[in-house]
Amino acid sequence: MNYVDLLTAELSRIQDANTFKRETPLESAQGGVVTVNGKQVVMLAANNYLGMSNHPVVRKAAIEGIKKYGYGVASVRFICGTQTIHLELEKKISRFLGMEDTILFSSCFAANEGFFASITNEKLGLAEYQDAIYTDKLNHASIIDGIRLCKSETTDKKIYNHADVAHLEQLLEADKDKNFRMRIIATDGVFSMEGDIAPLAKLVEIAHRYQAILFVDDSHAVGVCGKRGRGTPEACGVHGKIDVMTGTLGKAIGGAAGGYISGKKELVAYLRQKSRPYTFSNSLPPAIVCACMAAFDLLTKDLSIVRKLQDNTAYFRKEIKALGFTILDGTHPIVPIMLGEASLAQDMSAALLKAGVYIKGLWFPVVPKGEARLRTQISAALSKKDIDRALNAFEHVGKKFNVI
Ligand SMILES: *Cc1c(COP(=O)(O)O)cnc(C)c1O
Repeated sequence: MNYVDLLTAELSRIQDANTFKRETPLESAQGGVVTVNGKQVVMLAANNYLGMSNHPVVRKAAIEGIKKYGYGVASVRFICGTQTIHLELEKKISRFLGMEDTILFSSCFAANEGFFASITNEKLGLAEYQDAIYTDKLNHASIIDGIRLCKSETTDKKIYNHADVAHLEQLLEADKDKNFRMRIIATDGVFSMEGDIAPLAKLVEIAHRYQAILFVDDSHAVGVCGKRGRGTPEACGVHGKIDVMTGTLGKAIGGAAGGYISGKKELVAYLRQKSRPYTFSNSLPPAIVCACMAAFDLLTKDLSIVRKLQDNTAYFRKEIKALGFTILDGTHPIVPIMLGEASLAQDMSAALLKAGVYIKGLWFPVVPKGEARLRTQISAALSKKDIDRALNAFEHVGKKFNVI
């Protein structure tokens, strides 16, 4: 068989179960309301938590960035692809997160791929060594892939049950007398399928007790969680106490692209030498760098944006429950509406689009079998009227499908 036949056979095999449905394209910019098939629909599926994707101040900064610094830099950072703005953005992120230093990547996926292997695969002057990584079962694919790049001869990889600090402690305790060079605990700050927050206060304490490095990917949380939007460490009372933070600039912070790792200055200096997706991949374009700086400035100066997101979220969570839907409780703007069957999630998301709401269903293998859901994502870009319009559609469609 040639490869095209093999792929065709595989595509038809997985057709019903777990292919992504063909995307429904937007005919407008991302926002609280978008245009689809010529109709205005309320957007409840974007990572555009703060409405920065099409914010006038952010757009303007991107345009000014192109005017002053050009479209592309045509180089990696260490050759001639570092402009003053790259350094400025790195400083701004460090200050925002309360960390010593920051290194930019083209995405958070690249940042996570660049982190683990660059540290664990190097002898760092030792003749022999062994490292251990303890990773949450529900961590993002980019953390999983990052850890895959660590050589198994020198890296002991362990998965702990989701958010289960007792299990993590058990694993660390069992390894207590082993002579590991480094122990790394890796977790998402917010888990994207559930919208739950990692138990960071406890993780900080455990990491300290076992002299482990705590790594937190706060992609869904920076700009979202905490009173000032500083992320899950702020929400959990441990701002500035995480060893390594990674995150994306492709969600709350403008939604275009880019990622980063923040931590001790020695770590960042080391990553600039050894992290392959940094060394061998192009610099972030000036438009994105300038727009991200504007987004961080907005977020720092004007706390009303993050407050609006949090108010919108609380309102939606309360009202959708009042309609009779089952949601996963919490505080994050990711609000999973639990349905059970994959076909129900598929049919309801299609019906909701017709009723004026853009929302996506998730089912196996993205979530466990029988836990299919609609994943709502609330945004500061939504007005109360938009949310009410969405709630009306949910009521109508929910009744039609006998869910409420
Ligand atoms: C979205 C996300 C990423 C990927 O970010 P990109 O910048 O789009 O590559 C990585 N980790 C987590 C936890 C995410 O939610």
